Amino acid sequence: MRYLKGVGPKSSELFAKAGVSTIEELFYYIPRAYTDWTNIVEIGSLRISDCVTVVARVVSCDVLRRGRMQIFTAALEDDTGTILARWFGRRYIQRVLEAGTKVAVSGEVRFSRFARRIEFMNPSFEVIGEDEVAEGRIEPQYSQIASLSGGRIRGIVRTAIDEFLDQVVDPLPESVLEARGLPGLMESIANVHFPPSLEHAARARSRLAYDELFLFQIVVALKKRQIASSGDAVRIAWRDEEHGRLLASLSFDLTGAQERVISEIAGDLERGEPMNRLLQGDVGSGKTAVAAAAMHQAVAAGHQAAIMAPTEILAEQHFENLTALLSPLGGRVVLLRGGMKVGERDDALGLIASGEAQVVVGTHALIQQTTSFSDLALAVVDEQHRFGVVQRAALRGKGRAPHILVMTATPIPRTLALTVYGDLDVSVLDEMPPGREMVATAVRDEAARSKVYSFLKSEVTSGRQIFIVYPLVEESEKMELAAATKMYEELKERTFSDATVGLVHGRMKAEEKDAVMAGFKAGGTDILVSTTVVEVGVDIPNATVMVIEHAERFGLAQLHQLRGRVGRGEHRSYCILMVGRGASDEARERIQVLADTNDGFVIAERDLEMRGPGEFLGVRQHGLPRFSVADLVTDARLLVQARDDAFALVADDPNMSTPVGKLLLDATRRRFRGRGAFMDVG
Ligand code: ADP
Ligand code: MG
Repeated sequence: MRYLKGVGPKSSELFAKAGVSTIEELFYYIPRAYTDWTNIVEIGSLRISDCVTVVARVVSCDVLRRGRMQIFTAALEDDTGTILARWFGRRYIQRVLEAGTKVAVSGEVRFSRFARRIEFMNPSFEVIGEDEVAEGRIEPQYSQIASLSGGRIRGIVRTAIDEFLDQVVDPLPESVLEARGLPGLMESIANVHFPPSLEHAARARSRLAYDELFLFQIVVALKKRQIASSGDAVRIAWRDEEHGRLLASLSFDLTGAQERVISEIAGDLERGEPMNRLLQGDVGSGKTAVAAAAMHQAVAAGHQAAIMAPTEILAEQHFENLTALLSPLGGRVVLLRGGMKVGERDDALGLIASGEAQVVVGTHALIQQTTSFSDLALAVVDEQHRFGVVQRAALRGKGRAPHILVMTATPIPRTLALTVYGDLDVSVLDEMPPGREMVATAVRDEAARSKVYSFLKSEVTSGRQIFIVYPLVEESEKMELAAATKMYEELKERTFSDATVGLVHGRMKAEEKDAVMAGFKAGGTDILVSTTVVEVGVDIPNATVMVIEHAERFGLAQLHQLRGRVGRGEHRSYCILMVGRGASDEARERIQVLADTNDGFVIAERDLEMRGPGEFLGVRQHGLPRFSVADLVTDARLLVQARDDAFALVADDPNMSTPVGKLLLDATRRRFRGRGAFMDVG
């Protein structure tokens, strides 16, 4: 950047802070919008759904507040008429626009039922000089970089393109460009910044987004290949008579989805390559039975199988279920967890090392150094979103190329699954066991609190149990914890003085937490107040109400997970989403989605749309790169194409040793340098 004319040390530092350190990165710093000076229209002749630019003067401004949301309205006027422009939540606009300012505003003209006139909604705009006329151009608008003006950034990009564009080497193979009808790289860089028309800009952007997705999928394909060729996996020939014995001891018939997924897994186990499969299934869809069927085959073939759960209580639950199911069929099931007595632990470790334990159920203890297996052929990771990539790899290291099945109850939209879990094959349990009733869900506010409490009382009186969840927000954890504790005391001492109320929170020791959870599970506690998402997947059929305080602070997927804690038994179940006083209308609307649908995938898609991929996945997740052009929400089709192309290319050139392969590998390294952990994980 410093070699660019007009860029001094100061501005090059500002660019670097915005993630732009090289000319190449500057080329990929694409405009967030354009001002279309080729299509300037007089206000008097605007028609609904035109996409146009008007050049006008601001005659008045107005700020309206709705909850936390702010709406800024400007009335615009030219010689032919007036129109309103409204922006939601863009606080900076207030500082930029005032009566008298001359602006160019671009966007779609729509009819506002509310104002009963035409308006622009969230248009892009630019303040322009008194005598400025830029007729005939389409001007890029970039995200603000500190104090640099739009014109300044434009100038720098222009210079970079004039001087260095001819040095750009297109890494995409000709055949791909042709098959997908994509423009060349040089042309695309030029057109995305200074497009002759908006169509050119869109095509150029698509090409650059495609690049990013394609290069990333090359990494994914290589990684997938690396795992597949990491060693000869044990071939486990599927034995129908053994499967029949398992089915006979289940207390229910498998759903069609469970059967389908089991046969997908059967295919994997029979192949000589290690299985690497993700099983997605909403809470309660019956993932455990699927895992058990696969584990039983591994055991019947004379090998060991293991399942790792994120918490002790969940491990214990699996231990009980799998013991009941698999030990009558001849498999010895052993539990390994953190808080065991030394003697107990050594016994378990001995059985695992000797191979006498054929089914091993455990927590993180499974991947500790001291744990060694005699012949681990299949490893299952339950609630995989609670583990990182590293733990998955550690488990893989416990056997000689074991088959891996990871399970998650957090439905992941397809685009994200292909990116973050792109090296895994994906199975989906998209059918619930019969007879499951939908959890009745309602959004309620403070005004309804006493009504909510009388309802809770009636449930407790009928012998049911209740969860009350209180959010913990990182920054103010202490305060929130105090608030939750206070609420607990109040509920215990006053509101529900006749009932048994328990409290569990993240600051408690693991054993303390487990004791409280176990007490709740055993029915000794009527109401459990918890501050964090303490447990996943725990089966408490008698719990029928999930109350979530400050529901507006949770992500939709998380709320859905919490809701899944109830509705697991024969009783009608409820989820009450309490919104706090400060919650905006938007937030209420957002969580209303929960009341409207019970489908985890629909909820996940909406959550992704509303919060974006980073927040959707949360901090625990690894492996999502920061894309600078591609958008995982809107570029879904492009992603699937890029993935097909990248996988085909890697299949043809597995070592990336052809000239095309080398060029691509190089481009990949440059693009994703420091942009996410995916590349670092072997
Ligand atoms: P999850 O997918 O959330 O891990 P589980 O495996 O814990 O779900 O199953 C939830 C409950 O549904 C368990 O009590 C389990 O025994 C039961 N279940 C699983 N499959 C079926 C089925 N096909 N028919 C009826 N009940 C089932
Ligand atoms: Mg489960």
